[in-house]
Amino acid sequence: MTEIQSLLKLQELDMECLALETALKELPVQQEIDKSLERLSTLRERLSSAGLELNRLSKEQKHEEWEINDTTATVSSISRKLYGGEVTNPREIENMRYRLDTLEATKSKLEDNVIGLMEKVEALESEISEVNQEITQKEAELGELIGKRDFEIAAMSAKLSDIIGDRERLRVQIPDSLVKKYEQLLRDRGGSVVVPIKGKICGGCHVALPSSIVILAKPNNTVVRCENCGRILCWQE
Ligand SMILES: [Zn+2]
Repeated sequence: MTEIQSLLKLQELDMECLALETALKELPVQQEIDKSLERLSTLRERLSSAGLELNRLSKEQKHEEWEINDTTATVSSISRKLYGGEVTNPREIENMRYRLDTLEATKSKLEDNVIGLMEKVEALESEISEVNQEITQKEAELGELIGKRDFEIAAMSAKLSDIIGDRERLRVQIPDSLVKKYEQLLRDRGGSVVVPIKGKICGGCHVALPSSIVILAKPNNTVVRCENCGRILCWQE
C-alpha cells in the first residue's frame, strides 16, 4: 500500500469508528428500556395512589361499621325498654317509637354506605392486583432488555477497540505530516476527505479531473487535491 492508499484505509477505519460510536449512543434497545422505565414509573405511581385510597376507604368502612354497631346497640336498648313494659306513658312510647324509626333509617343508610364502600374496596383491590401483575411482568421485560443492551454494548465495544487497534497500527505507517494534513481537512470540511479517482473522475464531487492532476496523483505518495472540491485524491488500479 502506498501512503495515500494507507490514508484512504485510515479514513475507512475512522468512519467505522464514528459509525459504531454513533450506534452505541443511539441503541434502539435503549429506547425500549427508557419506555419500559417510564411505564414502570407510571404503574408504581398508580399502585401508590390506589394503596392510599384503599387505606382511606378501609378506615371509612370501619368507621361506618362502628356506627352501625352503636346504632344497633341503641335500637336494642330502646326496644327492651319499649317492649319490656317499663314505659307506660303513651307520649313517651310515641317518642320512643319515633326514635326507633329514625335509628332504623340511619342504620339502613349506613349499611348501604358500607356496601358501596365494600364495592369500591373490592374494585381497588382488583386494580392493585392487576397493577402488581403488570409491574412484575414489566420488571422481567426490563431485566431482559438491560441484558440485551449490555450484550450489544459489549460486542460493539469489543469491535470498536479492534478497529482502534487496527487504526493505531496503520497510523504509524503513514508519515506524520500526511496524517496531520488529513486530520486538518477532516476538521475543516468533515465527511470523506480522501477519495478514489474513478476513471479520471473525482470520487468525491464527481467532476472530471484534468489529466495533469491524474498523472500527479497516480504514484499515490503525495497529497494531490481535487481542484473542484479540495479532497485528497487516491489512485486505484
Ligand atoms: Zn472533487
